[in-house]
Amino acid sequence: MEKLIITVALTGNVPTKEMNPYVPISAEEIAQDVRRCRDLGASVFHVHARGRDGKPTLKLEYYIENVLRIKEVAPDVIIQLSTGARAGKDWQDRAGPVKLLPEMASFTTGSTNLPGIVYENSPQFLEFLASLFKETEVKPELEIFEVGMINNAIFLSKKGYLEPPFHFNFVLGAPGAMPYSVKNLLFLLESIPPNSTWSATGIGNSAIPCATASIIMGGHVRVGLEDSLFMPDGSLATNPKLVEKVVKIAKEIGREIATPDEARKILSLDPLKKDVILERCFSYRKN
Ligand code: ZN
Repeated sequence: MEKLIITVALTGNVPTKEMNPYVPISAEEIAQDVRRCRDLGASVFHVHARGRDGKPTLKLEYYIENVLRIKEVAPDVIIQLSTGARAGKDWQDRAGPVKLLPEMASFTTGSTNLPGIVYENSPQFLEFLASLFKETEVKPELEIFEVGMINNAIFLSKKGYLEPPFHFNFVLGAPGAMPYSVKNLLFLLESIPPNSTWSATGIGNSAIPCATASIIMGGHVRVGLEDSLFMPDGSLATNPKLVEKVVKIAKEIGREIATPDEARKILSLDPLKKDVILERCFSYRKN
């Protein structure tokens, strides 16, 4: 079986220190978690930004701060910036992180209910964002909350916006969206084009069961405090603890863990582009 890529969704838009004191909010806290998780075996980091008030923001200055600090402490990791909508609905703002030219950025190819909101990604927005992915050659992680979103991704590819091989992340168990079960996971992975790579994310209590199923089924794994605040035993989770748990399960069943460079190969990322984001962040800072 292919080596296992572990992605960490460190912060998200929803968790607060009141919900879990270990949620990394500042650039320094985020970078320290990246370093620890990288040393434990994680290779991809899904990064959001928070303002000084701790609230989600799409302001590039905060993304840039996070990126520069992460690259200082863990220069070889793959940075995946979020284009999620909880921090703002403006199309240009949501596209901003892609313009920083990270190795990857998240791209949810459809709308769904989530706690308290409609996570809105209209057909027009999908074409807008997909054309930016094409233009910048940033690799999207296609965030899939239900099977129609896979169809939308295939549709965008037929229109020439998205280039295979695709990387899908199945997000299961979010209240309002598709629940986690092995049956649902199997259904989704049987619905993606051949030669795609995939990972899975279980929200809340399903985080570790979903990661375990994915490890067994040959997929990759995303865990982190964005997706679950507690360990299976009910204790408070930390990002390193979640990674440690996934590594332990993988090792028990003989699945090896991918390094960042091995992850680049599996995800068809050009290793020469790994630091383009740094140049881009520096030039944004100057202007
Ligand atoms: Zn996210």
